[in-house]
Amino acid sequence: MEPIVIIGSGLAGYNTAKELRKLDTATPLTLISADSGPFYSKPMLSNALASKKEPAAIALNTPEQMAAQLNAAVRVKTRVDAVDTGACTLRIGNETLRYSKLVLALGADQIRLPIAGDAAADIMTVNDLDDYAGFRAAIAGKKRVTIIGAGLIGCEFANDLAAAGFAVDVVDIAARPLGRLLPPEGGALLQSKLAALGVQWHLGTSVASVDRAEHGYSVGLANGGTLQADIVLSAVGLKPRTGLAAAADIKVNRGIVVNRRLETGAPGVYALGDCAEIEGLVMPYVMPIMHATRALAQTLAGKPAAVSFPAMPVMVKTPACPTIVSPPAAGAEGSWQIEATADGVKSLFVAADGRLLGFALNGNATAERAKLAPQLPPVLA
Ligand SMILES: Cc1cc2nc3c(=O)[nH]c(=O)nc-3n(C[C@H](O)[C@H](O)[C@H](O)COP(=O)(O)OP(=O)(O)OC[C@H]3O[C@@H](n4cnc5c(N)ncnc54)[C@H](O)[C@@H]3O)c2cc1C
Repeated sequence: MEPIVIIGSGLAGYNTAKELRKLDTATPLTLISADSGPFYSKPMLSNALASKKEPAAIALNTPEQMAAQLNAAVRVKTRVDAVDTGACTLRIGNETLRYSKLVLALGADQIRLPIAGDAAADIMTVNDLDDYAGFRAAIAGKKRVTIIGAGLIGCEFANDLAAAGFAVDVVDIAARPLGRLLPPEGGALLQSKLAALGVQWHLGTSVASVDRAEHGYSVGLANGGTLQADIVLSAVGLKPRTGLAAAADIKVNRGIVVNRRLETGAPGVYALGDCAEIEGLVMPYVMPIMHATRALAQTLAGKPAAVSFPAMPVMVKTPACPTIVSPPAAGAEGSWQIEATADGVKSLFVAADGRLLGFALNGNATAERAKLAPQLPPVLA
């Protein structure tokens, strides 16, 4: 019997395997990963300094332990080069591997901005535990970190590094941090609380160049300013990994296009996690992955199931200003109603008929999450 093959050992890949093994202990299963394949929780990477975790301690299980736990073959540092959906095969270098069903859990790439300068290639990104181990080695004994991007990941790293004593500069083209998730009042509170921790903001501008300097780097800003940095970290967004699917003639749009059963257009080929676009939605967060893995496991075990998503508020790990967001659906009609105090901002996105369609809670307003979350509409009913 050919194995079910899962490409990817992130939360989507491993959790699909775990859920499948609750339903089917026998079907041969193979996981293939381009990285070193530890089982870990990626969100821990942006608060590991605060939780005093060394990179090695973030890995919860080795790939060998996962293989034993899942009764699966786990192949690490192995990149799948091509998929042939007609022949149901994968190509890894010169090797051809057959599959019965294929799960694409490929994740997303960090977007890299075009930046000039003789040290642009030194700009770091953190998108997996291997990257993070490299980042921690690079910052050891250093002082100044410039972060490009004031989105969720940039703000979380800014908080973690500043709280650990680093001098942190954050550069973003937007006028406020978390500009896509927070109305301006919430962004302003987050900005001021992180500034109180020592974060220096450079908003409304971008990084134009990174050059080697006598000590570390000279970071040139589009507004003419210059920052000195020992390390430059970029966190400007993610791009679903669609190349493998597109080359196999599987439909891709922003992500790999799948229906509610996580089926691509190719028979027996599924996608989920950061690489997937489910009914038009790309949801690069943990909760959607956990819902999708449970549905997909049923389908893989022979009982086709559609995934549904409740509202899934995301907690931003900025302890200097606790923040929870549940943005309204794209195109939702309504308006923001905002109550701001010195220590909290409650932003509610409300329809004309009074229904709550989304929220952003900052500071002490996060205490209202439990009351508000059940009022939100599901993301996909
Ligand atoms: C720093 C950080 C903090 C975060 N914090 C939060 C948070 O607080 N809350 C939240 O909800 N979400 C958070 N997220 C997002 C969340 O972690 C991701 O949505 C999730 O981990 C993605 O899992 P995945 O399995 O889809 O992708 P990944 O973990 O990226 O896994 C992709 C896998 O595919 C493999 N792969 C790709 N291409 C190939 C190939 N051709 N051949 C073989 N293998 C391949 C890779 O090696 C990897 O193993 C955070 C993300 C980051 C980066």
